[in-house]
Amino acid sequence: MTVGHVRCTRFIVVAWISCCIAMAQPAHAAKGVPDSAWFHRSLVGMEVGPTGAQFGHSDPNDTRYCSQFNGREIVRRCVSAHCDYLVIWARDGDYAYYDSKLLPKAPGLGERDPLRETVDAAARHRLPLIAYCVVQQGGHYLREHPEFEMRDPAGKRIGRFCYNSGYLEAMKQIVAEQLAYGMAGFHIDMLDQGFGPPYGCWCEHCQEAFEAKYSHAMPTGVTWDEKWDHMLEFRYATSARFERALYDHVKSLNPHATVDFNYHGNPPFSWEVGQRPMQHAGNADFVTGETGVWGFSALTVGLNAEFYRAATPGLPVQVAIQRGVRMYHDQTTRPLNDIRWELLMLLAHGAFVTMVDKTGFDGWLDPVAYERIGIAFKEAHAKKAYWGHEPVPEVGIYFSSRTRDWLGREQPADYFQSFQGAHKALVYEHVPWGLVLDENVTLERLRRFPVVLLPNAAILSDREISLLRGYVDGGGNLILTGFSGMLGWRGESQEESALAELAGIRLVRRLASLDNWVRFPGHSEGPTSVLGQAWPFLVKGPAAVLEATSAQPVGELLEPFRTIRQQEGREGTDWPMSADSPIGPAILLNKIGKGRVLTFACSPDYATASEHHIVEARRLLVNAVRFLHPNPRLRITAPTTVEAIVTDDPAERTLRIHLLGYNAPPQTTPPKDRPHILPRLIEDAPMYRAIIEFAEPIRRATAFNKSTDLKRRGRRLQATVQDIHDVLVINY
Ligand SMILES: [Zn+2]
Repeated sequence: MTVGHVRCTRFIVVAWISCCIAMAQPAHAAKGVPDSAWFHRSLVGMEVGPTGAQFGHSDPNDTRYCSQFNGREIVRRCVSAHCDYLVIWARDGDYAYYDSKLLPKAPGLGERDPLRETVDAAARHRLPLIAYCVVQQGGHYLREHPEFEMRDPAGKRIGRFCYNSGYLEAMKQIVAEQLAYGMAGFHIDMLDQGFGPPYGCWCEHCQEAFEAKYSHAMPTGVTWDEKWDHMLEFRYATSARFERALYDHVKSLNPHATVDFNYHGNPPFSWEVGQRPMQHAGNADFVTGETGVWGFSALTVGLNAEFYRAATPGLPVQVAIQRGVRMYHDQTTRPLNDIRWELLMLLAHGAFVTMVDKTGFDGWLDPVAYERIGIAFKEAHAKKAYWGHEPVPEVGIYFSSRTRDWLGREQPADYFQSFQGAHKALVYEHVPWGLVLDENVTLERLRRFPVVLLPNAAILSDREISLLRGYVDGGGNLILTGFSGMLGWRGESQEESALAELAGIRLVRRLASLDNWVRFPGHSEGPTSVLGQAWPFLVKGPAAVLEATSAQPVGELLEPFRTIRQQEGREGTDWPMSADSPIGPAILLNKIGKGRVLTFACSPDYATASEHHIVEARRLLVNAVRFLHPNPRLRITAPTTVEAIVTDDPAERTLRIHLLGYNAPPQTTPPKDRPHILPRLIEDAPMYRAIIEFAEPIRRATAFNKSTDLKRRGRRLQATVQDIHDVLVINY
């Protein structure tokens, strides 16, 4: 990893029969690696690498760099910090950190070979040792090999490696050289095609291969037409081919050596990286992804873990976090409780975790960092029996990579807002959730979830629509928001929603405004009563005027006022304007087959992730879930700062409810980009109360923490927790 990459409303509705969905087994896609492989028995490990060449082009004569980078000392520290494995830095864009015949060696290493030191020391502790090796990083190596460099449409070099250039053969030699040291495997980083413009690649190799495949020339740039569609496919295929070839090469040299690629298929990344969520997560023995406030927000720690899991069903998932306060390479150390919150969150979501330490410039290891990491890792091991197990999801949040690409285009955050807002609403309201990806969606996968939510999934294939139809026909509950089903295959406008029949609606028009409003009847006789009074509230996000065909309309959608200046195009519409007149229903409820479809004409998910994130928008979404699925297996009431993760072990009839309390104090204004602040670090353990109500009788309830006060009355459990993490164990 380097720096460069950088619920108020009660739904009282006509009594419809709700159907239970049979829980299907998850798909299993494990590759040919024995169950004894190190990653099947690992909870926590570290990645250690130097600081000083991460930006590339470092001074090759600065012998202070890495002068103290010492394999024996790194192993000693990691073993004492209770690591299950170690990922050791072997190559970046500038140097090899070993005696290489192919690459220049970091200047301060002199005659020393830290990879050899690490291998020898790790062997004495039976510590699995993984080589960290980058693919994509500008620096000395790329400068010396312009023949491997990506080109823009004008033929200009753009500072990245092209995967069709012959670089693959060079990479094969590099990994072979490292593997010869006796590595247990590779963590291969930076298999991206860049994290923004300029995009590639238009080099002669790419042009030739593209024309051979598509019988026409490459598009002249980012054209968002059929040629560009081919270009996106070409880029995806290029990355996938490179990954598989490198994987196969390592396996041909040593079938027991593991390969994992650092993954960039999850939000906020999009097509520019060259990774489609599932297509590129499954090309190795397991996927590794990153998380951290620095690039992903605090809330998406759990989302990232579940995204990686959804992209590689049945396989272990590794998530990398960092010890630094801000990011990698910053030579600062987070407070213990901040580390614990992130680490234990990931473990609760079923991931195993790599803590990244970037040493000082000379290779110095921060003793305080290792002390804190050691305490956190010891806790991870002490709670080993509580990690893993099957999640108990209630809502499946649907991710459409096609919508990411063709609605999101060069502003993918516009699409991600709806997906991330859905996640945010469910986490804040403690509704267990999981993810469904368009690439690997099956009827069985959909049926794992009593409710499936499509957040602005605007572009859907015939196959997806057929599966959604089958899901609802069989008793599934579908929620649609935003423009779901309303755009053509390349994002073009359509006369009708592809989901019109299923949803019992007719599309009148999509609104250009995002500052859209809803209003519901002020009493509980109708399908919904939102606030006890007819009160219009902003639900910021994509909205459409819809008419009911077979659906039952509920509430009103109101368009915003537009000032004269706005109508004349002389004033922007970025800031919300108050509600004008009703233009259609807010919600449309359709009963079809054994199931139901609830269509929001608005986007309560987008609103929840937006800067105009009123609580009512979030509750509107979650009440839709509770209306469609009124009797969940368990209901959790806790503060919005608490994330709950529920797993089940049916063989032992045991539910585990992980509670993680986020407790960052208020932050002050930043020096720039006010008010876009980073959250403050967690220093203090919080105290909070969670109430869990079970649909079925329970036999016994215990808490891991002795400090937790547990009160039980029948099927109602009240836990007062005084820690970052506790796990409640429920025998049923
Ligand atoms: Zn190329």
